[in-house]
Amino acid sequence: MPRLSLPFVWLDTLWIQVSGTLCNIACRHCLVSAGPKVDRHRMLSADEVVKLLDDCEGVREIWLTGGEPFLNPEILAILDACLERAAVGVLTNGMRIDEPMARALGARFREAAHNLEIRVSLDGPDAAANDAIRGRGAFLAAMGGISRLVTEGVEPIVAVTGLEPEKKVEEFHKMLRLMGVSRPRVKWIPPFKVGREVARGGGYAPFEGLNSAQVEEPEAPHRLQCGTSRTVTSQGVFPCPILIDEPSFLLGARVSETLVPHPVDHPACSTCWETGFSCSR
Ligand code: SF4
Repeated sequence: MPRLSLPFVWLDTLWIQVSGTLCNIACRHCLVSAGPKVDRHRMLSADEVVKLLDDCEGVREIWLTGGEPFLNPEILAILDACLERAAVGVLTNGMRIDEPMARALGARFREAAHNLEIRVSLDGPDAAANDAIRGRGAFLAAMGGISRLVTEGVEPIVAVTGLEPEKKVEEFHKMLRLMGVSRPRVKWIPPFKVGREVARGGGYAPFEGLNSAQVEEPEAPHRLQCGTSRTVTSQGVFPCPILIDEPSFLLGARVSETLVPHPVDHPACSTCWETGFSCSR
């Protein structure tokens, strides 16, 4: 039986897993189960990123992710190559942004040809809530990174995973204003029941998933982010950053050969559909 698949519209957003699954911490809800010794997906070099960008003509927006992107020793060269071509965002836990890195990011924020956005992940507006998920000391270290960014004129977005976000938004705004952020922005991420989150909150039920009527709706390729995006890892190209550990979602070796309909029959696809979630916007 053919798999449920989604038409591809155009390549709007490219995700690059620049640090592979290597991270300095091991969050309890990590979608890709990243951690200090996790190298299922390896880091990408600046040369590899330049080559893959040459294969992504017309892309509007690039997001660098991992693991923790600032563990990649070539992150600034990678950033420069990406910023020449499109707007760039970096998803980080903020803990590795020391003063020299904050200065380097501030210079690119002011001078690069395209916009640079830094998104710092937090799981609570205080150490108790955040460190229960991210590990002891993670909150203070992230606050240090945010503070150094703000000093350099870079106001990061804070990304928070969880349910009922509206109950906490004012707490995050207050915390960010205290840090000197003049325009607090918080992006909420619904909990996807994959990766390490399965051990914490349980996996998907067998009945969860999309059906053919949903996928055939004309707006489906716009409602689901993978209708306009691809994710590159050291193992190849996947439809999205959520499913990089699902071999049956490996679409090919080069981005240009994967801009065709792709499967959307993973239960996690139902979370995208119900929430209208996009990892980038
Ligand atoms: S999880 Fe979401 S983004 Fe990934 S393939 Fe499924 S619908 Fe697309």
